[in-house]
Amino acid sequence: MRLLAATRNRHKLGELRAILGAAFEVLGLDAVPEATDAVEDQPTFAGNAAKKAVWAAHLAEGHWLALADDSGLEVDALGGAPGVRSARYAQETGGTRPTDPQNNAKLLRALAGVPAEKRTARFQCVIAIAGASPALATAAKQAGARCAQVGEWTVAWCAGTCEGRILFEPRGAGGFGYDPLFVPAGHDLTFAELGEEVKNGISHRARAMAKTKTLLEAMGRAG
Ligand code: IMP
Repeated sequence: MRLLAATRNRHKLGELRAILGAAFEVLGLDAVPEATDAVEDQPTFAGNAAKKAVWAAHLAEGHWLALADDSGLEVDALGGAPGVRSARYAQETGGTRPTDPQNNAKLLRALAGVPAEKRTARFQCVIAIAGASPALATAAKQAGARCAQVGEWTVAWCAGTCEGRILFEPRGAGGFGYDPLFVPAGHDLTFAELGEEVKNGISHRARAMAKTKTLLEAMGRAG
């Protein structure tokens, strides 16, 4: 089965290919020379993922299934922020995309004075799959995934969550984004200290991708 993933991120493509295996041929946006990037302006992860997946389905003209993800960090003491703004949390109006250390510093400032027991948080990842085939809706039902019609496209969503807490200062050199501040539930080390293998066993993205694989395999069986 051929899939167009709405990303130019080689790391994400590699992760997808590794999880889905040889039965799926995963192409990235670089395979579509005229492709521009979709604007992530929706208020939810599911909305942004669907917008990108539908736009990629248009690019693939319905010949391939399209897939897109959106992810971020929700901190309870901040009412769910940075949420869909995770990548641009510390961005000044009109400014360039902030670095990970700038986003982390802003998060620590926002949480100043918040005690350890109130620093609960979670990473969320939503993967949207868009296509024209009726088999997608059937497979989504079998896999227990949310599914809806968006214009001419069927869209199914697979979500993954990783609960945890935010530290008072960064720890660890691995990972990316908010990893040095996030300790997943059941662990004492941050995502940046745990290493990729452990992170990939419990992360929001790994969980969403595992559900996506189940759905796509069901779709493959449905023909
Ligand atoms: P996107 O889904 O690639 O747009 O990622 C959104 C942002 O959420 C990233 O730039 C990071 O700031 C944050 N984020 C998402 N997943 C992770 C993760 O696994 N570790 C740390 N930060 C993450």
